[in-house]
Amino acid sequence: MNIIKMAEQQAQRPTNSVQLLAVSKTWPASRIRQLAAAGQMRFGENYLQEALEKILALQDLPLEWHFIGPVQSNKTRDIAAHFDWVHSIDRMKVAQRLAAQRPAELPPLNICLQVNLDQEATKAGIMPDMLLELAQAINQLQNLCLRGMMVIPAIAETKAQQLETFGRAQQLFELLKTHHPQVDTLSMGMSADLASAITKGSTMVRVGTALFGERHTPTKQ
Ligand SMILES: *Cc1c(COP(=O)(O)O)cnc(C)c1O
Repeated sequence: MNIIKMAEQQAQRPTNSVQLLAVSKTWPASRIRQLAAAGQMRFGENYLQEALEKILALQDLPLEWHFIGPVQSNKTRDIAAHFDWVHSIDRMKVAQRLAAQRPAELPPLNICLQVNLDQEATKAGIMPDMLLELAQAINQLQNLCLRGMMVIPAIAETKAQQLETFGRAQQLFELLKTHHPQVDTLSMGMSADLASAITKGSTMVRVGTALFGERHTPTKQ
């Protein structure tokens, strides 16, 4: 995507230092197949049932599937069996279930911890001051690989506010890396704010609308 390249240049970061996660929720398998033909292999989904149908329909392609929606404990078995990454971990219980249910023949499930950066009461994610404790506990679990953190900030009024929030995420990410050297992923930035996220060190932007177009089907958040 050109907007990612431009943002990398503006932030004086190397080309291809930011990965594109194509968020394909609400879009049919046929659209995913088109993007895959153009070389995009990494896809993010929020709703398990919808995702499982597409994963099945696209089994012939070497795609990488990322679960980015809220994880309910009764859904962990299917997530553990069909996804490569989960970005939205904010509870030890869910992590333990994923670890126990990850099929032995698959590589470890890659995990990002979701941080509620703005400490919004209605939003998922752990409070920033709980990050290291949860990371340490999850890092002990077999079959999971702690890769980093994910944030969905509150809607910012100004670009300065966007940068301030993402800057706090960047600091937390640096702290997490000092404790867990294998951590390499800051999942941050969506269609509306990806340039600011890249300025502040995002390594993976999750882009739906700017890639596929406006979603017509109403989606729950
Ligand atoms: C839908 C969604 C996105 C993509 O949002 P766009 O604004 O369409 O780019 C990214 N991350 C999460 C967690 C989402 O639910």
